[in-house]
Amino acid sequence: MQNTLWQSANELVAKNNIIFGPINSRRFGMSLGIDLSPALKQCNFDCLYCELAPAITMDKQTQSITVEEIIKELKKHLNSSIDVITLTANGEPTLYPKLSQLIDAIDLIKADTQTLILTNSATLVDASVYNSLLKLDQVKLSLDAISPDVFKKIDRPHESIKIEDIVEKVTAFSKEYKGKLFIEILFVHELNDTKEELRKLNSVLLEIDAFRVDLGTIDRPPAYPVVGISYKELHEISMYFDSSLPIHIASRIHAEPNNAPYSKEEILNTLDKRPLTQDDINLLLDEESKERLQKLISTKEVSIKNVANLDFLVPTSNIKRKRKT
Ligand code: SF4
Repeated sequence: MQNTLWQSANELVAKNNIIFGPINSRRFGMSLGIDLSPALKQCNFDCLYCELAPAITMDKQTQSITVEEIIKELKKHLNSSIDVITLTANGEPTLYPKLSQLIDAIDLIKADTQTLILTNSATLVDASVYNSLLKLDQVKLSLDAISPDVFKKIDRPHESIKIEDIVEKVTAFSKEYKGKLFIEILFVHELNDTKEELRKLNSVLLEIDAFRVDLGTIDRPPAYPVVGISYKELHEISMYFDSSLPIHIASRIHAEPNNAPYSKEEILNTLDKRPLTQDDINLLLDEESKERLQKLISTKEVSIKNVANLDFLVPTSNIKRKRKT
């Protein structure tokens, strides 16, 4: 599952074919990656935005490494500076046939380190994958679209995969899972950024108990000729979602500063609707508005709240409400 965390794989230090990193990820901390398909792309999707070359989809791996090989390599690189061991792949990591055994073997050596998987969610319909993911400390599920036609256009899934089944399982998983659940939506221009799709995504997200919802867009050269959306559009989309949702804008690589003037009331109203990080503030507010915000922080009208490694600015009156950011 290629995504905004591991799309920077080329910039990482490849320890060998199986272990990558560690990288200091803003969203997940110091992450050591395990590639469960180091030799070739093996995926049940063929996403338009994938940073890997297009490939024929498959519903199971045709080439797999052993649990013993992975654990042997992991032991060489695991140390107390690692916050999270991230299961990922050139493709979809949950296609790895020994996932449950691998998670059990990692649990035996990981001590306080967290485990995380980055998955496209499709295999949650398989009970053994669903139960394996329940054992992890953190899970990131991608959910790019709700409409079957939009889902098929963006994610180009293997023939047997239906978005209705995925949505049902993601929702059920979110109710049962005890760890931190992240949802990631990657927006592609004129595909899943329409009002109709946003409305559907919003109503499904309201049924999912997510710790955080990350909104992203295309940050790397994609497999097919599609384009992402601007940071400004991502921000507008973030404001479209219900204010109770723990939305976070995760994509900033192509962010162009907006630097607009915000009055004190506009700052408070924006943060009330959608808590923002300092990076968001730097892109959205002009210098005078940033000074207004600083005053609001010094008078304690705005507070800083840490959610899963990220500091969000929130109106102090809002913190008492039942929301996750
Ligand atoms: S095709 Fe999609 S799900 Fe598969 S690796 Fe690429 S981005 Fe991830």
